[in-house]
Amino acid sequence: MGQRFSSPKDEHHQELASSFNEYFKKFKLESKIIPQKTLASIELNLSKGNIQGANSSITNALKEIESTPLDVAVTGESGSGKSSFINALRGTGHEEEGAAKIGVVETTMERHPYNHPKIPNVVFWDLPGIGTTNFPPKDYLEKMKFTEYDFFIIVSATRFKKNDIDLAKAISRMKKDFYFVRTKVDSDLKNEKKFKPRTFDREKVLQQIRSSCVRTFQENNIKQPPIFLISNNTLCDYDFQILMDKVVNTLPEYKRHNFMLSLPSITRAAIERKRQFLEQRIWIQGFAFSLLIVNPSQTILMNKDVEDLRKSINHYRAVFGVDDASLQGLAKDWQVSVDQLKAKMKSPHVFETTKEETIQERLSRLYEEFRLAKGDVFAKNVYVKKMFYLKYSFLDMVTDDANVFLREICIKNNLVRLGSCPGGSRPASGTFGGRPGSGTGGGRPAGTCEVAGTSGPAWQGTTRGLPRQQGQLGPACNTQSRLPHYN
Ligand code: GDP
Ligand code: MG
Repeated sequence: MGQRFSSPKDEHHQELASSFNEYFKKFKLESKIIPQKTLASIELNLSKGNIQGANSSITNALKEIESTPLDVAVTGESGSGKSSFINALRGTGHEEEGAAKIGVVETTMERHPYNHPKIPNVVFWDLPGIGTTNFPPKDYLEKMKFTEYDFFIIVSATRFKKNDIDLAKAISRMKKDFYFVRTKVDSDLKNEKKFKPRTFDREKVLQQIRSSCVRTFQENNIKQPPIFLISNNTLCDYDFQILMDKVVNTLPEYKRHNFMLSLPSITRAAIERKRQFLEQRIWIQGFAFSLLIVNPSQTILMNKDVEDLRKSINHYRAVFGVDDASLQGLAKDWQVSVDQLKAKMKSPHVFETTKEETIQERLSRLYEEFRLAKGDVFAKNVYVKKMFYLKYSFLDMVTDDANVFLREICIKNNLVRLGSCPGGSRPASGTFGGRPGSGTGGGRPAGTCEVAGTSGPAWQGTTRGLPRQQGQLGPACNTQSRLPHYN
């Protein structure tokens, strides 16, 4: 008596809540794209059967993800490499339209915005160096509208100056984050090697650069912040990826999503992290979709669905730097045709009509293949499954394509250790006309690619989201989706 039995409906709601919770549990806090508080409130609504409430929180969260702006201030003396760094972050070649002009002595006191070409909500602001303006730090920050930035990057090509440190102190008092970036370490290494060929020790030189930067902080009696050594010419080497990981981990969830997607895919780990971010978005969209399914008997994809799917794959391709525009740039750099590049890829062919298969037939085949390979990982409704399994399948395809190029870049630059590049061991033939890799890297742990000193092609920075010159790969990671089961 008095015992309350749960109805099948209650059980269904509990199931929804627990599958929601289970899904997000598998991501580390710093890789989640929705704040923990919001996730908890959605879960609570689901468990209480407040489906409308849960759905509207999800819709709002998705809107926040799409629309939250991110503004990054890059400051430092003229010639320190600010514009080069901004181009590298935007994946824009220096000679491309819309690139920040490099090697130009600063004459303007104005800040200049550069939108990310693929993720326009991400804006990099090129600020005149504080030394150029002659303003004291507080006035400088006010003139530069410091409240509008999410964080600052203070760039120097030599030792940091008292100016830089005073600026950092002022930024910190204004409760904003900042990062110190020491550029041009490739030049330092090259010079050291040239002048001391017999005693040259790469790690020692890097350590000396770090120590020299640290001294300025000690002289100014402040606790030493981390200093990131980078080369704008070889992004994948040195500390660039470490810096980006630190920034992504520190940003609030909604900001981190766009920033992560805007970053160049220069390591296998970076590609995998992007994949995880996008996977979460697909999952939660599919989850919300299945909550409010209007016509449960619908199984066929309509024209608008096919259009939606086409947009999705194009978005993934742009984010990973394997879209048509990026391929054209790469083809030019590598002196091959776009078709030769596409022949190595899967994603550009999904929406191509062929004699053998209509697009609808191909989508049905891809859906079945995904379902057979992964099992039932999502809602029971066939229509929802079709839409979202296909999106997962596209994401896997694009991730694979991005890894194929990363691997090609390693091979072309003689950076590869056998078996360490994405996709396993090196093919016996069929690279994009690049010279074959020697398969020997020197002095790096297994699982990394190595930049062959400064003797590689004169590529600079990144091209449209893909690295032009490739180095260190992250720890081995699996490009296969690890999807949870949700019934
Ligand atoms: P800004 O005045 O701070 O915007 O500096 P720029 O980006 O215009 O760079 C000034 C010069 O330094 C240009 O000739 C760049 O090619 C060069 N440069 C920038 N970053 C690097 C780097 O990391 N390594 C090397 N070797 N040269 C760099
Ligand atoms: Mg500049």
